[in-house]
Amino acid sequence: MSQLLEFTSSGIYCPIADVYIDPWRPVDRAIITHAHADHARIGNRSYLAHNDSVPLLKHMLGEYISIEGVEYNQPFYINGVQFSLHPAGHILGSAQVRVEYKGEVWVVTGDFKLVDDKISQPFEPIKCDVLITDSTFGLPIFEWQPQEIVFEDINNWWLENSENDNLSVVIGYTLGKTQRLLHHLERSIGPVYAHGSIETVNKVLRKQGINIPTVEKLDMNKPLERNSLVLAMPSIIYSPLIKDLSPCSIAAASGWMSLRGARNTPNIDKGFVLSDHADWHQLIQSVKETGARKIYLTSSGYSSAFSRWLEENGYDVTEVETKFTGEIKEIEETLGVGVDSF
Ligand SMILES: [Zn+2]
Repeated sequence: MSQLLEFTSSGIYCPIADVYIDPWRPVDRAIITHAHADHARIGNRSYLAHNDSVPLLKHMLGEYISIEGVEYNQPFYINGVQFSLHPAGHILGSAQVRVEYKGEVWVVTGDFKLVDDKISQPFEPIKCDVLITDSTFGLPIFEWQPQEIVFEDINNWWLENSENDNLSVVIGYTLGKTQRLLHHLERSIGPVYAHGSIETVNKVLRKQGINIPTVEKLDMNKPLERNSLVLAMPSIIYSPLIKDLSPCSIAAASGWMSLRGARNTPNIDKGFVLSDHADWHQLIQSVKETGARKIYLTSSGYSSAFSRWLEENGYDVTEVETKFTGEIKEIEETLGVGVDSF
């Protein structure tokens, strides 16, 4: 008998409903957990996602995609299979997918974090029999500090730079990380600028009523005050723009900054450990709270240590290859090297 959810060459598949979750090859029907490029790909005939993801997905994939939006905790049925989306706390609109058929419940977490970023709806643990979970940071060394401490460090670094007439550049993912940073910057230190592609995403979010603090769009034709902070995406490192911004101090904000090798690469001057994923303890907590005994780990990060921990604690665990890249792509773009080289 086939499983309720299967792992195919196109992605996570529900054969009874004939629907895929975050497929990486074009399919007829796709449920999308969130609007990051490794989970939401172009070319599917129809999309379904949380209502808050719909404007973002249209912005990313095209205004004319066929897409349906649903609320959290709102069940819908496909061929007798019950589906519902539940908050994943990763970015705005991010959802876990709950799938129920004949009393059996599976949950796909997608990317998730337990920390409340005040922008996305906070993560809710969902009871299930089988859990398919992200495990990007599945090593005990990944242990996030309270976000208030990280933001204080970032603001202190910015203040110190501004006192030394040094421009500050912070690199982070265009959707999620930068808005989270924006909410916590101490604006009395100096002006904040955002790269054009970040401000475009900010506009999509503001249009749907999300409170995103205003920032100046970066315009290199205008001189920047030396106490400014510029928010930019990883690819800026390799663009001529970075020379135009120099002299400046460049910081990256990512979970991978826990690794000394990542912090010490020449492309950046400073690393702040700030992740939109769960750390080691949060991964364990989230698995325990589901009550599931069968766990599938989808990760391109450090899943093997987490897999061992689960096995030793009596779980039936399987690691699954996927095309999800999580924060890895972000940081590899910034540093110019693979995280496995640290
Ligand atoms: Zn993501």
